Amino acid sequence: MLDLAIRGGTLLTEQGEFLADVGVEHDRIAAIAQPGALPAARKTLEVEGCFVLPGIIDIHFHVRAPGHPARGTFPTETRAAAAGGVTTVLEMPISVPCCATAEVLENRKALGEQQSYVNFGLYGAPGRLDRDQVLAMADAGACGFKIFTHALPKGREEEFLGLCIDRADEIYRALELVGETGRLVSCHAENEQLIQLFEGRIKSAGRIDPAGFVASRPPVVEALSVAELAAMCADLGTHVHIAHVSCAAALRQLQQGQAAGLPMTGETCPHYLFFTAADMDRHGPFAMIKPPLRSREDQDALWAGLLDGSLAAITTDHSPFTLAEKERGLPNIWQGAIGSPGVEALLPGVLTEALDGRLPLKSALRLLTSQPARLFHLYPERGTVQPGSIADLVVYDPRPTGSVDSSRWLTQARAIDRLYHGRRQRGAVRTTIVNGVIVYQEGQIVAEPGTGRFVRPARP
Ligand SMILES: [Zn+2]
Repeated sequence: MLDLAIRGGTLLTEQGEFLADVGVEHDRIAAIAQPGALPAARKTLEVEGCFVLPGIIDIHFHVRAPGHPARGTFPTETRAAAAGGVTTVLEMPISVPCCATAEVLENRKALGEQQSYVNFGLYGAPGRLDRDQVLAMADAGACGFKIFTHALPKGREEEFLGLCIDRADEIYRALELVGETGRLVSCHAENEQLIQLFEGRIKSAGRIDPAGFVASRPPVVEALSVAELAAMCADLGTHVHIAHVSCAAALRQLQQGQAAGLPMTGETCPHYLFFTAADMDRHGPFAMIKPPLRSREDQDALWAGLLDGSLAAITTDHSPFTLAEKERGLPNIWQGAIGSPGVEALLPGVLTEALDGRLPLKSALRLLTSQPARLFHLYPERGTVQPGSIADLVVYDPRPTGSVDSSRWLTQARAIDRLYHGRRQRGAVRTTIVNGVIVYQEGQIVAEPGTGRFVRPARP
């Protein structure tokens, strides 16, 4: 007897779409059957007209717990993930203190295991350049490592100590250490010296407007950092993953590295795919993200990169802040917090584009599920729907049309969304299943915190 039968839906994976019923036993997919052919089940979901898809894997996420409960916590931000159809988040190592030792990583793991509604992995920060700690974090199950190639953000030193390394020798050493673990290093690529050059010019002109922030970090800031990382990757062979690629110039550097056979991958985010610097003018600090929102031409290049495979994943960089932290950027943009929430907009946003014909549905699934799972050696346990894989599933109804109402989001940071509110959306997440447990259904969280599990790479 099955524990759960999902009947009448269209199974949607990177392979394509076909009518099928899905059976779950305990925490795993037990059967995929012709419509009507599943054995009896204790519970049945009738999902005619809906897509059934693997749970989304968001490989760039910020809860930041423990540290700033006013911004968000594991319960608040992972319930938002569940509402967005995201069943696994890979959490960046920004916390208080920064996740740069095995001890901090173990503490965060224990916290997430108690409090998370969805599965979670943890990146480590290698920037203290302490070999024993980097190896110990890998042993403790770090999914990968993260560095920023710009300086420590002022006022947030404790959260970022061990993450921000802007000198070439330090970056090289960090890549060398991560290379020993066999894991990848996700790089926030912005060259510090060029930031200082451009930001210095803008600030000395007295500018405090939103466009000034965009102009302080032009594409060359990002492209130069990617080029530097590519040169080190060529020397060391460490898997370099470029976080949130935002522009054509950086993408070109990544593509050149890939064409040379280097182990380089990259991701981009919905905000770069859906919005441009014009939205920064409109929303000011609420659209302040780094790298900043770019031009229409950059956006077109990113879409092409998703289609040609040079970008491997779409991730959120979901970053909760308080309303006060964002409003500090009015009228002086330099005072505002940088980052934006969006985990509840990822799947609906990308599927809306796919249903509109901007990319094939199976490509959308590849970028949101199977490819992120492969990057972190979670596949085929996760990132697919096949017999034996973990039952992380989403039921998505493509029929309702409307617009995003972010005042109803579950993220604690819903008050700072300006980008997505009112955006046209096709369809909605109806049900999210994590490890065989229904966590989210029709607008409600219906499971307990702690339903999510810690995930670690199957190898190396
Ligand atoms: Zn981030």
